[in-house]
Amino acid sequence: MNRSYDVCIIGGGAAGLAAAASIDPGIRTCILEKNEILGRKILATGGGRCNLTNAGCEGVSATLDFFALQGLETYCDEEGRYYPYSGCASDVVEVLRRALDEKSCEALTGCEVQEVRQADGGFEIAFRKSAGKRSAQGRPESSYVSVIRAEAVLIASGGKAAPQFGTTGDGYRLARSLGHSITRLYPILTGIECGDLSDLKGIRARGKVRLLKDGRTIAEERGEIQFTKDGLSGICIFDLTPLIHAEEGERPQDAFARYGLVVDLAPDFDQEQIDKRTSTFGILSSRLAARIGLDEIKAWHLPVLGIKGWRDAQASAGGVRLEEVDPESMESKLVPGLYFAGEILDIQGPCGGYNLQNAWETGRKAAKAINEKRKGTF
Ligand SMILES: Cc1cc2nc3c(=O)[nH]c(=O)nc-3n(C[C@H](O)[C@H](O)[C@H](O)COP(=O)(O)OP(=O)(O)OC[C@H]3O[C@@H](n4cnc5c(N)ncnc54)[C@H](O)[C@@H]3O)c2cc1C
Repeated sequence: MNRSYDVCIIGGGAAGLAAAASIDPGIRTCILEKNEILGRKILATGGGRCNLTNAGCEGVSATLDFFALQGLETYCDEEGRYYPYSGCASDVVEVLRRALDEKSCEALTGCEVQEVRQADGGFEIAFRKSAGKRSAQGRPESSYVSVIRAEAVLIASGGKAAPQFGTTGDGYRLARSLGHSITRLYPILTGIECGDLSDLKGIRARGKVRLLKDGRTIAEERGEIQFTKDGLSGICIFDLTPLIHAEEGERPQDAFARYGLVVDLAPDFDQEQIDKRTSTFGILSSRLAARIGLDEIKAWHLPVLGIKGWRDAQASAGGVRLEEVDPESMESKLVPGLYFAGEILDIQGPCGGYNLQNAWETGRKAAKAINEKRKGTF
């Protein structure tokens, strides 16, 4: 056994970094991060601008105060989405990284946690450290397994969405091995597959989209629709995906067959105005108008053949069962000293900053509880 810490944070993403930045100086903390850099997914958020919270989130002011304390100014767009004032996601990572420098926090990157065991009132954490040069595919030349000890462990290793950023669902396995249950997982905030739309690929149009289930409207979103070769994308489409999933035991093909989309590509025009026109061109761009006639412009029916998988998803639905975690301290109700924060939990929000808000908020709650506990225990 090489090293011993008060707290080990598994995952140096949004939740892990917010926690580390909020842990009292003097508490010996380490972050084990699988990637070679911290906050890799944060860099990709909000199209590289990091939509870090939303005016509609309950904890928005605490998050803004937290970032202001780190020296990061923010601005809010007309939709209530907050971004760093510089518009650079990398600045969000940088302020958090600088905050760690001021603490007794060691960030160990290139370290993939493989196992967490309870031992002598604390935990042993086994991880694989990559070493040597990386191949063109990013594989390390070599690696070795190391074990550290910690009095408390915070699992902040994210979900399964966008595994290219390191989130391959490892935390679910770790949580299960410690006795926790994981609710049904499926990718959300991603595109919807509707069949061949290759003639429309790359077009963006304003519209209103209704999601039908068994013929009934269950949700409606308005915004920019992006056409892909096999379906629809864009924030208003992403926000429908949490509602599209198979029930327990249901085959995905059967589940998807129950859904459908009705797209209104002229939401600012009523039927009377449409009836006076001779063509959809002029409301729609020429390529879209070539496909969509006046009879379809306000109600274009599309099937739901599937949704894009984990690689394209922005978030995971499902996760560590909330009944097993104290919502104030984020401490496990099953294993004292074990904490969870971020997307690993069964908490998911729509696009617009809600998922990062969850990560900052739960990470900071866990840190606060660890700080308080430290006064008594370690
Ligand atoms: C392209 C994209 C854009 C997005 N844009 C936004 C946005 O603008 N606003 C918003 O609110 N949300 C956005 N999201 C969602 C948001 O990024 C996530 O919900 C949020 O990052 C979750 O935070 P987290 O700390 O739980 O997980 P992550 O930030 O994913 O961090 C988890 C970390 O744990 C590490 N890890 C995993 N397994 C191990 C292991 N075994 N050992 C060590 N480390 C491990 C991972 O490498 C990763 O760095 C976006 C997501 C994507 C994919």
